[in-house]
Order: sequence, then structure tokens, then C-alpha cells
Amino acid sequence: MQRIGVIGGMSWESTAEYLRLLNQGVRGRLGGLHSARLAVGAVDFADVEALQVAGRWGAAGDLLAAEARGLEAAGADLLLIASNTMHEVYDDVAGAVAVPVLHLADVTAAAVTATGLSRVGLLSTRYTAEREFYRGRLADRGVETLVPDPAGREEVQRIIFEELCTGRVEAASRQRLLAVAGDLLAAGAEGIVLGCTELELSVGAGDLPVPVFPTTTLHCRAALDLALG
Ligand code: GLU
Repeated sequence: MQRIGVIGGMSWESTAEYLRLLNQGVRGRLGGLHSARLAVGAVDFADVEALQVAGRWGAAGDLLAAEARGLEAAGADLLLIASNTMHEVYDDVAGAVAVPVLHLADVTAAAVTATGLSRVGLLSTRYTAEREFYRGRLADRGVETLVPDPAGREEVQRIIFEELCTGRVEAASRQRLLAVAGDLLAAGAEGIVLGCTELELSVGAGDLPVPVFPTTTLHCRAALDLALG
């Protein structure tokens, strides 16, 4: 079994899910007392969030690249950036190490196209919805994304940063997320990508009448496919 390196802390609420899902996945596949071989790096999310707000993506890339180098030195055979948003600096991270870095948008695109869908709604941070790095990569792989209107994007952003990243899972906010998803379905989306690694803490596959693509779960599954060969 290969060692999976997780660049986490963005936020630790979702990193904890990564660790749980990776370990549960190994138990499910190998049984008994088997558990995941991991190397975990965690940034202070307050630092990352401040860089996001300031638009200092280069500095954020340097920060994550340093984490990546540390995980590679610690023996990681492959790396995960445990945040959709921070794939903005994927090239900085991937360029800093020799081991593969499993891109979340590639994993998501593969899951969407495997179901035969080509147009999905994206629930995510404003950065992921508005910048090119994520939607462009999905488009290159044949997946069109619809994003919420500005008010919807603001609402999802608030729920992610003020609630889910601070450990608060509110029923009312879950209804708001489902309403925003419903608007995307009305606009023509055929499925919904939970394109932020905390969203699975609130919304589940059974909550919507269409296929739901939970990126934390998909990322962990793809990493296990690689790590277990
Ligand atoms: N975990 C998040 C994501 O998947 C948001 C936190 C961040 O900005 O990194 O996009």
C-alpha cells in the first residue's frame, strides 16, 4: 500500500473527513485491522483565508508547495490538496514535488462523465465558482458547470466560511444549499457537484433528486485506487 499525503487544514473540518474516509476505505477494501498509510500536513486555515481575501495566490502557492515538499520528504507516494479552492495553486504544488498530485477536478470530471452527464451545477466557494482553474479544467474534460447567481454564490460562501469551516452544521443552511442547488437544476443542471470539501458535512446524496458528486468522497476513493493499485 502506498502512503497518501494529505495537504490539509483547509479547513480541518474537512481534513478530518479525509482521514476518516481514507481509513474506512482501506478497511472496506482490505478488511481486518488494515488502515491507511498517511502523511498529513496541515496549514493554519486563517493564514490561507487571509491570502485568499487579499488575492495573494502566489504566496498561497508557496505555502502549499512547502507543505507538499514536507510530505514528500515524509514518504508520501502521492498527494492530495484537500480543498477544491486551493487547486487554484495546483501547478505550484505539483511543480514542487516528483510524486503525483491527484487533481480534484479531474477526479470529479471522471465521476460525472462516468454517469453519462455533461452539465452539472456547482456548489463551491466564490473562488471556485468565479475563477477559471476549476470550471475550465472540468470543461476541458467535457463537463459544463452552471454556478449560482451572485446572491447564491455569496450565500454558499457564507455558509462554508462562517459555519461549516467552524464546525457548525445548521439545518436552515442545509435548506438554503438545497434551494441554491434547486435553482441550478431549474436552469438545466443534470447533477450537482459538492465542489467544496466541507459541503458533504451538510448535504448528502439522498437530498436531491439527481446524481450528487461529493468531491471529498470522490477524491479519497481515487486516492485509494492509486495507493492500493
Ligand atoms: N475546503 C474548501 C474547498 O474545498 C474551502 C476552504 C478553502 O477555501 O480552502 O474549496
